[in-house]
Amino acid sequence: MSAVPLNPTPAALPQERSVTLLGATGSIGSSTIDLIRRSPGRFRVEAVTAARNATALAALARELGAKFAAVADPACYEELKAALSGSGIEAAAGEDSLVEAASRPADWVMAAITGAASLRPTLAAAERGVIVGLANKECLVCAGTLFMRRAAAAGATVLPVDSEHNAVFQSLCAGTRADVKRIILTASGGPFRSWPLEAIRKATLEQALKHPNWSMGPKITIDSASMMNKGLEIIEAHHLFDAGPDEIDVLVHPQSIVHGGVEFVDGSMVAQIGPPDMRVPIAHCLAWPTRMNGATRLSFSQLANLTFEEPDEIRFPALRLAKAALRTGQGAPTVLNAANEIAVASFIDRKIGFAHIAALVEATLEASAARGVLREPVDVAEALAVDHTARLLARDLLPQIAAKAF
Ligand code: NAD
Ligand code: MG
Repeated sequence: MSAVPLNPTPAALPQERSVTLLGATGSIGSSTIDLIRRSPGRFRVEAVTAARNATALAALARELGAKFAAVADPACYEELKAALSGSGIEAAAGEDSLVEAASRPADWVMAAITGAASLRPTLAAAERGVIVGLANKECLVCAGTLFMRRAAAAGATVLPVDSEHNAVFQSLCAGTRADVKRIILTASGGPFRSWPLEAIRKATLEQALKHPNWSMGPKITIDSASMMNKGLEIIEAHHLFDAGPDEIDVLVHPQSIVHGGVEFVDGSMVAQIGPPDMRVPIAHCLAWPTRMNGATRLSFSQLANLTFEEPDEIRFPALRLAKAALRTGQGAPTVLNAANEIAVASFIDRKIGFAHIAALVEATLEASAARGVLREPVDVAEALAVDHTARLLARDLLPQIAAKAF
């Protein structure tokens, strides 16, 4: 039994849904809060978290009437406490405080912390058997098998927030899982979609941060430019929908209007379309199994031509690496994700060039295989241990990769 509810029986809904926002200050967090503001009386916010931005977090906690606010960085505790003084809102800091936030009694939890740092808090929410709006994909890439198993065992409902997976989720409800022939994820192709390989290799940080269609946090924006994002999303789809690598297709669709879909055995294709605005899939999950008023609409008359093309794994090697990691299985996706987090952070810090991102991921995967550390993580501690070892390896390999000329 999967934790993703494909054929739900709408349950009686509470008048007011209590929600916790993990990663409240980020792009997904802000879009979620925008929707909450637009539907007064429908949601009550229990807890909010951020990495470091204590002042912004405190302002959100006050505005939303949250009971608990937590920052991941312990050095920001005093700032958070001061900013919340007199509000009656409890302040906390450190990694364990994120788990505490996720453990508070909310019916619905948004998992929108970037990276594998999301794993422990998101799992803590799932293990309470509540609804988890899953925006974060890295926790599934890091430890998808055990995450989905534990979520299902706890009776949690995992709702895909990522736009492509939300599209597939909505499309899957048109039939039964057994009648699915193929799952389709679309990709914008990012800012370098039509660039030649040589130019992509030399792309600057500023060029990589300019996504043509979506406004997102920096890590996923870089992942979109390298197309690692789509690679991570193939692994995400594998875990969410219990689909093998051969059942998941990627199509480049530069307009980002058709977000994803499903082909059924009878030849019917069902896709979800909508504006390139994360508030659409977030609203679907926030109000699930009902619907709520959204923030943007799509007008067919304003649509340009919709075009589709095959992805190019030579110009975008990250896509090839992610697919290979999924086929290798065991700890390979965990290593891929960890190495990519180090590579993207190093690119953002201008320590490596754009081409070095995929090169560092590949070198870390090879070194991990050679050292025999590609074991399948059986529990969270093991997943985090494999993740940790891969990060150390990637850091060790960094100078040697950075010296490579492309
Ligand atoms: P963001 O950088 O804008 O925000 C991330 C949030 O998490 C912030 O609140 C930040 O303070 C917090 N955070 C970051 N690192 C943390 C850490 N180590 N510990 C605790 N908190 C931390 O990112 P985003 O674009 O909102 O993306 C969040 C997640 O959602 C990512 O996993 C991303 O892949 C996924 N996602 C985002 C989009 C999008 O449109 N932005 C779309 C699909 C999926
Ligand atoms: Mg996506």
